[in-house]
Amino acid sequence: MIETFALTLNPGRVVFGRGAVSQLPAEVARLRCKRALVLSTPSRKADAERLAGQLGEAAVGVFAGATMHTPVSVTERALVAYEDERADCVVSFGGGSTIGLGKAIAWRNDTSQIVIATTYAGSEVTPILGETEESLKTTRRDPRILPEAVIYDPDLTLGLPVDMSVSSGLNAMAHAVEGLYAQDRNPISTWQAVEGIRALKQALPCIVENPVDGEARSLALYGSWLCGTVLGTVGMALHHKLCHTLGGSFDLPHAATHAILLPHSVAHNASAAAEALKPIANLFGGSLGGGLHDFAASLGAPLALRDLGLAESDLDCAADLAVRNPYWNPRPIDRDAIRSLLQRAWEGKPPQ
Ligand code: NAD
Repeated sequence: MIETFALTLNPGRVVFGRGAVSQLPAEVARLRCKRALVLSTPSRKADAERLAGQLGEAAVGVFAGATMHTPVSVTERALVAYEDERADCVVSFGGGSTIGLGKAIAWRNDTSQIVIATTYAGSEVTPILGETEESLKTTRRDPRILPEAVIYDPDLTLGLPVDMSVSSGLNAMAHAVEGLYAQDRNPISTWQAVEGIRALKQALPCIVENPVDGEARSLALYGSWLCGTVLGTVGMALHHKLCHTLGGSFDLPHAATHAILLPHSVAHNASAAAEALKPIANLFGGSLGGGLHDFAASLGAPLALRDLGLAESDLDCAADLAVRNPYWNPRPIDRDAIRSLLQRAWEGKPPQ
């Protein structure tokens, strides 16, 4: 039987395929824009400049200052560049950090955003913006934040380092897993979640084996689009709360934190959300938490929070923060259970 549901679909255009980046000038023109500011992280500046070159007169400059967690100070500098260059849109070329900067600009001046997504984090298809100012992370959701167009070109991900590909792919899976048991899930988000997880489950081992496998890169990017769409449509639960806490308050790297915590969060919620998780249980050998842990280990993913630089003495504080203003979760939030989850994840043990 189809459960009762209400659903808001995010409007956004997606152009997908090998070589799709050649569509960028047409996508800029389609939005009736003529003066694009290209955004990137510092390490991708040369590639961003090449991209701007391909846009010719339709690009007015490159701002290569994007960093993790979208600091407001960086956004303010980018806004100055946007005004100085009299830009009329942004082209965000990169992963969640660059996309976050584009969103932060759009939140302030409603500019059009064209994203060329090069990781699997999924931010490009969500109306969500997380920003940091004075070590405080605030998250908002607004239609203005959603990028107008997204280009997915698997060829641009061939050089994404394997460790980043694995962590980022598990980060994408985490959106879909939590989407499966979201309170506001619907038949479309459930289908997207299962299809997205299936695609990434198949693609990631092939990428580890051969990082320039175009077919596997294509499948992974397809899966990340679906998982990101789930994140943009339905609510997230304990797993995302834990990751936001560890990223926001302890500055842990985004994708790796997701990768480590996912098996533990899933094992924690497995009984309470057994029915909702059924469609993917067999994919990971029946026991979802253990299966995801083994899958992550087989890919060489990071398994222990201590390896990310988190001190054991921080775990009490992390547990306290994680139960403060909790997100809705299928299993009632219990501080002691979360503290012991964090301990196992810190030590790199399989989930309980
Ligand atoms: P990232 O954007 O920080 O990228 C990580 C590194 O990989 C960067 O140095 C980047 O330049 C490099 N890189 C990216 N693509 C590459 C490629 N194809 N080849 C080589 N190098 C490449 O990492 P991320 O995990 O994509 O994004 C993390 C950020 O995104 C966090 O701030 C997180 O909060 C945010 N995020 C937001 C949402 C949302 O919906 N608002 C969703 C997911 C993530």
